[in-house]
Amino acid sequence: MQQDQKTVYLETMGCQMNVLDSELVLGQLRALGYNPIEDMARADVVLINTCSVREHAEQKVLSRLGALKKPKQAKRDMVIGVIGCMAERDPDGIFSKMPHVDLVCGPGELNKVPALIEDIQAGRHRAIALAQSLSRKSTPLQRALEYDSVEALDLAREPAPGENVLQSYIRVQRGCDKFCTFCVVPFTRGPERSRPASHIIDEAKMLADRGAKEITLLGQTVNSYVSQDDAREVRFAELLERVSAVPGIERVRFVTNYPGDFTDDILAVMRDIPQVCEYLHIPAQSGSDAVLKRMRRQYSAAQYVELIDRAREYVPGIAIASDFIVGFCGETEADHEATLKLIERCRFKNIFVFKYSPRPGTVAHKREADDVAEDVKRWRNMELLSLQEGIASSITQRLIGSTVEVLVEGFSKAALKAQEAEQTRGEEVGWRRSDQLVGRTRTDQIVVFPGPPDSIGSFAAVRITAATALTLHGTLVKTCSAEEEVRTVPSIARSLPVLGGV
Ligand code: SF4
Repeated sequence: MQQDQKTVYLETMGCQMNVLDSELVLGQLRALGYNPIEDMARADVVLINTCSVREHAEQKVLSRLGALKKPKQAKRDMVIGVIGCMAERDPDGIFSKMPHVDLVCGPGELNKVPALIEDIQAGRHRAIALAQSLSRKSTPLQRALEYDSVEALDLAREPAPGENVLQSYIRVQRGCDKFCTFCVVPFTRGPERSRPASHIIDEAKMLADRGAKEITLLGQTVNSYVSQDDAREVRFAELLERVSAVPGIERVRFVTNYPGDFTDDILAVMRDIPQVCEYLHIPAQSGSDAVLKRMRRQYSAAQYVELIDRAREYVPGIAIASDFIVGFCGETEADHEATLKLIERCRFKNIFVFKYSPRPGTVAHKREADDVAEDVKRWRNMELLSLQEGIASSITQRLIGSTVEVLVEGFSKAALKAQEAEQTRGEEVGWRRSDQLVGRTRTDQIVVFPGPPDSIGSFAAVRITAATALTLHGTLVKTCSAEEEVRTVPSIARSLPVLGGV
């Protein structure tokens, strides 16, 4: 790095949408000559991309910002910025608690980050950009113009030379119109807007040209995607087909889904198009109709279960993951039992469980009492996780002896740790055949196995020899070189025992 090169440190908290936003902001700054570094205290610009979904996530941001007070005193011209959902939700709170913060920018205005940094460096005090401009009160024309401006962020995407794009995200939708009573997203990310299909396909082609093999389409309610293409409506099932047809893309995933909007044409595409993986993340949030109603989720527990059954009928071997909130306002023991029953019935591959915490601005925060005691929330959380652990174990145990298709992502955590220790001891790091690699099956199971480092980025067939609830262990059967064309491996996998599911 040249001595006078500007540096940026960007830390990301929260969901995949934030991961993608950070990548795009970093791309913009790189184009302006910024070099990303890992030492926050030495950076010219420090950005924290924040999450507001839970109180705990915001506390983490504040503690990170607190840790920046001293570095800022030592380096007065350092620019500290808070971007993302927390910036949108509580700009005044951030400035009053953390006066050393210079920049606050909501997720709908991230294309303005470089200009805001320039303003600050030019001597102005503090810069702020919030997506009130994208509010639901804007006129359609205002919205269209403003949307074009934020769309520019995705359109300008330019991976850095050598950047690992093997598994890439593409945004297909912004915002959400569901207004679940516990959720802050419709306020921080604005109304639901689908990106034009042609932009998404162009982005997939660009990523495939740079080496992407797996694409994950992102949206808050991705299955409700709908856009106009030459005055014709494009719905999510068609978008999935079109992305799958991009040469070089071997796997397509999508997160996350809203159960109430899920239609069978998407299941049919999952069944018929080999590139679309047999994996569905579809948050249930609760198994109790009374709680679902108070959450303003627009489906019942029975409708949710019926959808899961239908998904399994259409796509044999599909793995299904879900989210749950425990201790939502007024949740009784009977409601909790109903959630346990639903989990037992649906037999998920994995679940994410969150203890309810009221978020300012939401309907639940305004109108409902947060009346489930913290220790009860903790207990219910544990109960759900321990039930799920048994289910996940029984699913992974059944895979022992089978051979699965794995996209090799890199070295396992243990291998990386061992390599780091070797480096610290000053030993030469030699890649041994016993180095553990890690990859993922089509059903999103993590597989650890010893293999040659040059298989990273390729598909491999791995025979499963052992399993825990969350990880499969195995031995390499074969890797697929670039010449061998990866499509041969999926055909092996499709004749194998069902992955995930029951
Ligand atoms: S569907 Fe509900 S939980 Fe999901 S982002 Fe929209 S409001 Fe939030």
